[in-house]
Amino acid sequence: MSQDTEISVHDLEVDLPPSDDEPAEFQRKTRPVIPAVIVDRGDHCVSRREIPETVLKVLYRLHRSGYRAYLCGGSVRDLLMRRTPKDFDIATDAHPAEVRKLFRNSRIIGRRFRLVHVVFQGSVVEVSTFRREPESRPEDRELLVTDDNTFGTPLEDARRRDFTINGLFYNIADFTVIDYVGGLADIERRTVRVIGDPDLRFREDPVRMMRAVEFASRLNFEIEGETYRAIRDHRTEIMKASAPRVSEEILELLRRGWSKNAFAMLTESGLLEPLFPEVHRLLRRNEALYFWKMLEVLDRTVQLNRKISDAVLLSVLFLPFVMEGIEEEEKRRRERLKLGEVILFVRDLIQPICQRMAFSSAVRHQIEQALETLWRLLEPPVERRSMWRFVNREQFADALALLELFALSSGRYVDSFRHWQQFALRVKRAEGDLEPELKRQPRRRRRRH
Ligand code: ATP
Ligand code: MG
Repeated sequence: MSQDTEISVHDLEVDLPPSDDEPAEFQRKTRPVIPAVIVDRGDHCVSRREIPETVLKVLYRLHRSGYRAYLCGGSVRDLLMRRTPKDFDIATDAHPAEVRKLFRNSRIIGRRFRLVHVVFQGSVVEVSTFRREPESRPEDRELLVTDDNTFGTPLEDARRRDFTINGLFYNIADFTVIDYVGGLADIERRTVRVIGDPDLRFREDPVRMMRAVEFASRLNFEIEGETYRAIRDHRTEIMKASAPRVSEEILELLRRGWSKNAFAMLTESGLLEPLFPEVHRLLRRNEALYFWKMLEVLDRTVQLNRKISDAVLLSVLFLPFVMEGIEEEEKRRRERLKLGEVILFVRDLIQPICQRMAFSSAVRHQIEQALETLWRLLEPPVERRSMWRFVNREQFADALALLELFALSSGRYVDSFRHWQQFALRVKRAEGDLEPELKRQPRRRRRRH
């Protein structure tokens, strides 16, 4: 959408569901007509060329079968901002069973929000039926959303979404963009704003507070004043959210190349303290400042399309206080901890956090292994044959990635990192298919310079 986009405001007839105890005539007179902003095809930049063929196929079949078929959520936002969407979701007034009937290659999923997945070779298109937010009044004691599987109108569907920038639709029937919530203006203003009352919406679903931080840091947007105030007021309620959702959101903040920005916002908004009191405590004391540099290096690495495992991403969070804990213990004892002691120490430190965050035992094990292996890499070099075996261990790659992030950001253990990096490279080359003869060659002494 360009700055000088012409936006036409139409009065849309909104299909509020008729209430049983009102005569139809009365309803027609009193039914509010909600103005929606409709941007015509020529006045926005959403183009079908940017929409995958499978998604267009689903949109068109729904439309030709007499249903409304809208592209919704992040894809409309991203296309309007000329960014590549992560995924393309579809909203429709066809019920899940009707969608299922239209597409042989589909299945209904989810207990709560029965969505339909239309499965193509190599991709899945998600279709959801317009739904409304469950009735909830401020005086309700328990506002957490537990069941919002109630179908609704497009307007209701837009309003139950989290932020105005995520509440836009693209209508395949006439290629217009439909805005019931002020999302277009907020994209122009580069603002993340909650739809509706932020206190209520954050109490209903505290993960939305983390999502606000995610979108602001990802898109380089400001969080709107009232929305920000509500995050500060409700920050401790993040602990009421389901731990696996919170963990997934933490990983999202780390894995996509904007973690430094995101963690700065988590810190400023007060969300970091309840989420990670251990990290917050260090940062508040102005210690472990390399943490910020580490996130910066991580972001650069991710932006270069290097795959970083979840265990390494989470270890980045754990490393500062694990490092601090071990160094304090060594100071107290006035000697270096032995490797076996480090291993036990790391386990004791991170176990309660893994429990709090509801990490699976597999993930916890991977984090422990990455951190423990890292400490092995910091030990003085050992005999070549055991180094060789060590490089082939499963956890080696994670530990080396972690050491790289740590060394490049703190300036410590840089020599250890270079040493292991070069050694691993030689092992890889020697074992690689391209140079099988290397393996057979007798070991030559390296000339010292
Ligand atoms: P991404 O680019 O990361 O996929 P997205 O905006 O598409 O961003 P999703 O998590 O894929 O985000 O969710 C799709 C849409 O569902 C959102 O755009 C938003 O409209 C709605 N949504 C997701 N999570 C929530 C929530 N917790 N509360 C209200 N609406 C939500
Ligand atoms: Mg999405």
